[in-house]
Amino acid sequence: MTDFHYDVDGDGVATITWDLPNKSMNVLNLQGTAELDGLVDKALADDAVKGVVITSGKKDFAGGMDLNVIKKMAEMAGDNPAQGLFDGIMNFHRITRKIERAGMDPKTNKGGKPIAAALPGTALGIGYEIPLSCHRIFAADNPKAKIGLPEIMVGIFPGAGGTTRLSRKMDMMTVSPILLQGKLHDPVKAQKIGLVDEVVPADELLAKAKEWVLNATDADIVKPWDQKGFKMPGGAPYHPAGFMTYVGASAMVHSNTQGVYPAAKAMLSAIYEGAQVPFDTAIKIEARWFTQVLMNPSSSAMINTLFTSKQALEKGAVRPAGVPDMKVKKLGVLGAGMMGAGIAFVSAKVGIEVVLLDRDQEAADRGYATVEGLLDEGVKRKKVTPEKKAEILGRLTATPDYAALKGCDLIVEAVFEDPTVKAGVTKDAEAQLEADAIFATNTSTLPITELAKASRDDERYIGIHFFSPVHKMNLVEIIKGKNTGDDAVAKALDYVAQIKKTPIVVNDERFFYANRCILPYVNEGITMLAEGVEPALIENAAKLLGMPLGPLQLADEVSIDLSVKIIKATQAALGDDYKATEAEGILFKLFEEERMGRKNNAGFYAYDEKGKRIGIWEGLRREWPVTEDALDLTTVQHRLAMAQVLEAVRSFEDGVLMDIREGDVAAILGWGFMPWSGGPFSWLDMIGAEKAVEICDGLTKTYGERFTTPKMLRDLAASGETFYGKFGPKVEKAA
Ligand code: NAD
Repeated sequence: MTDFHYDVDGDGVATITWDLPNKSMNVLNLQGTAELDGLVDKALADDAVKGVVITSGKKDFAGGMDLNVIKKMAEMAGDNPAQGLFDGIMNFHRITRKIERAGMDPKTNKGGKPIAAALPGTALGIGYEIPLSCHRIFAADNPKAKIGLPEIMVGIFPGAGGTTRLSRKMDMMTVSPILLQGKLHDPVKAQKIGLVDEVVPADELLAKAKEWVLNATDADIVKPWDQKGFKMPGGAPYHPAGFMTYVGASAMVHSNTQGVYPAAKAMLSAIYEGAQVPFDTAIKIEARWFTQVLMNPSSSAMINTLFTSKQALEKGAVRPAGVPDMKVKKLGVLGAGMMGAGIAFVSAKVGIEVVLLDRDQEAADRGYATVEGLLDEGVKRKKVTPEKKAEILGRLTATPDYAALKGCDLIVEAVFEDPTVKAGVTKDAEAQLEADAIFATNTSTLPITELAKASRDDERYIGIHFFSPVHKMNLVEIIKGKNTGDDAVAKALDYVAQIKKTPIVVNDERFFYANRCILPYVNEGITMLAEGVEPALIENAAKLLGMPLGPLQLADEVSIDLSVKIIKATQAALGDDYKATEAEGILFKLFEEERMGRKNNAGFYAYDEKGKRIGIWEGLRREWPVTEDALDLTTVQHRLAMAQVLEAVRSFEDGVLMDIREGDVAAILGWGFMPWSGGPFSWLDMIGAEKAVEICDGLTKTYGERFTTPKMLRDLAASGETFYGKFGPKVEKAA
């Protein structure tokens, strides 16, 4: 079986059709690479062939590279993986360059065969870099298609010529979001900014591409960078205009990445250095930087977590075996507040019929208006058509009437965080439901097993914990109560798949997983403040770790009153076992002074009247003076990182977390944990258990038992093993 098919029509146009057997999406693997190479040779060598169209037999063009190929290239080189990677990358360059030059005379640029790419749908990563080496890119007018280079999102960069070609095709301002943020575009927008040349009706795609191929002249197929006198758009680095751009780009990348993402910096170096030399040298430079990035442990950790593990979880890696499809048809959402409305919105959007229920019609209507507002936002940004908006709202009923819940196969309860209120609505809703319906709660702090007692069937009761804002946060934590059965887990997972979010499944313990890890991070930051550490040092140390928000800013975002509420509830629940912390004194003080955080424009930070943060609140240094023997950066970072990481390890040790992949994926998606590290478990593997134990033992000695090394980590250090080596999924053989 082959990945590519070859056909020559009566006009002498060869069509190379990419159609990976038994897969819905094309991805490039080593066999496909060799086939494409051979077919391009065949077309160029055949005098009867006048030109070539490269297209796909599927609804999309290609999703990118099979990331196993990277592993394979490194493995094949034995002792010298870097050389293996570099040679492998140069092989891609050789093939794309062959397509680009298409047999033309190197001196005169004449006599080449026109090669067009015809993209029926999505073209990502190397699935766009191959078209980019062609002479003209045709895209079908398919609004669902996404075109671009998302590599940066998994910690690498476009390394098959995409970086060098695009930075020669468009100026830095235009290319930056595409390369540095991995922005994807639909065909119409892609054409506007120059990613594709023509957008044509889907049923004319091949005909238009062939027509162009048959009419293209020698001049039409020479890339600007292969012509005499080529100048970098926007200016090369030492051109006055270019100078400004590159200095600005470098500063921008650094401010966005704090220097912790090797790929962004390497890509910028490849562009900067490549811009000063001819194309063929530039792609060699790109290959060297790409090799360096692939050799960096951060890249493999990010690929593992943000690509391999995330995809596995989305495809049901932890779904109970043998339970039939449990997709939701009719959903009831109880409570039309901030969370309920968000849940209703993301569900109605994917075609689920939704009943949004609140105490009275007015409250229910408020929820409906929130959904409408989110849709209006989409219409304004041209992401949603007015027809689509009407269709989505048509699936939404806002009501106080429990009878409307008849026929719901899943309920998600999001009323006040109060067990009595929750118990009441559970009973009222269940009275309307068939016996096989599943009931879920969106509680963030109350134990599922306790709440399940109000249900008629605790096997069919489960936690589905969304993060706020629901329409933006992609992680959903599914929590099993003590008696939750497989049907409920499967239902929750199938529902999360329907709304296109990423699930993890955990057991029922205080704060579940994500909140359990994030609270100690905030606490540690505030504790340091109490100790007299300069607040700016605390915040910047967190940023330099790659945390999106420092602990003090996060406390402001969460709101001080909510933190106080959580502390009080924890005190009540733990009774004598509760240990007071230094941090809570500060939180109570801010609470008394009505500094509730972002919500009232006053917290650890000061804000202007428009709600913009303007800096650390000056009162902090007055109330908690900075002591002279303040900590060094590394200690602050170790404390902030370990506060989270140790809680993740404890969650796994306790059995709350059942799979370390879930621990890593949830950490990055749920609270933005140091994404460059691949998550807490990947980070520990990266620095090594032995080093981690050394850090924890040191911290425990100075700061106390909250840093006590978990036994599991100490055992790994003793045996020289890693988390993924010992607890990861069985490693698949690279294809
Ligand atoms: P909210 O106060 O915005 O909304 C709660 C809604 O429930 C209100 O509209 C209220 O009228 C309604 N309600 C209260 N009692 C009711 C009853 N007896 N019958 C019907 N409706 C009733 O609160 P929220 O922030 O949306 O939180 C809801 C739930 O989600 C809570 O359990 C909370 O812990 C959880 N949660 C919140 C967040 C967050 O960031 N806000 C995140 C995850 C989970």
